Amino acid sequence: DEEHCDPYAWGDNYPSCHPLLESHHSPINLDHQLMKNQSLDSLHLEGFNLTHKGQWWLTNQGHSVVLELGNGMQVSGGGLPGTYRTIQLHFHWGSVSSNGSEHTLDHLRFPMEMHIVNIKSTHPNLTSALEDPTGLAVLGVFIDVTYLHNENFQSISNALPSVAYKGQTKSIRPFPLMNLLPQNNLTQYYRYHGSLTTPPCSQVVLWTVYEVPTYISWAQLFVKRIYSTEELADKQVHLQNNYRHIHPTYGRPVYASKDAKMLTNGVSPLAIFYLFNVLLFIGFLNI
Ligand SMILES: [Zn+2]
Repeated sequence: DEEHCDPYAWGDNYPSCHPLLESHHSPINLDHQLMKNQSLDSLHLEGFNLTHKGQWWLTNQGHSVVLELGNGMQVSGGGLPGTYRTIQLHFHWGSVSSNGSEHTLDHLRFPMEMHIVNIKSTHPNLTSALEDPTGLAVLGVFIDVTYLHNENFQSISNALPSVAYKGQTKSIRPFPLMNLLPQNNLTQYYRYHGSLTTPPCSQVVLWTVYEVPTYISWAQLFVKRIYSTEELADKQVHLQNNYRHIHPTYGRPVYASKDAKMLTNGVSPLAIFYLFNVLLFIGFLNI
């Protein structure tokens, strides 16, 4: 909400954030323009089922909460051009009155979105990966909010009070990262070539956005628990709405995996909802 954070002004300091024609920025709306790609089967998520040794570090960076994941996990397959090592995950969210996922699914914005960031293993560091058009692979997971508590998010949720203010860090005991993914629907995802959604907006990301959301409870939601300001700041500001606006695809191919379901039959979930109601109504009239 702060003026200097306005995503429309990022281009002033980071020219690569200007959404020029033919550029391929993220996030995007995932709609019926998707192309089914039968060769996109499930990704190989190596080490995601293991409980790794050591510690992970949760940090409030002022614009998100980031979990540094240490070593031991990597992602490949599913059409990715190589192996990518997993480095961190972070979250995007809205406010009390608005949702805050970055991607939208048929214009539906979810309460939150988690990004698991992976760097192509041939690169020694992030700086090097940002020079490669396919240097990063990010897994995007929509997070819905329900009245059910999700025990899998509890170690992150428990640590949030310790990182309420910008600059604060808390160690977390590692857990199987798979627990945070929509485990029964991992073969259903969308794939496209896009960018980082924060400056410098580098257009080097192969996006995998899972079709089915995972969930947390209202109590686990980040809104009102995290500040973008330091603990001793004169005025405390909640960190809210840390998502970038939707960008045009400019004809970019957006693929649906072999098993993706909801959007690939050309019928929107909303249309099915209306059709269902019409059928109910007809049934009601006994026509
Ligand atoms: Zn992100």
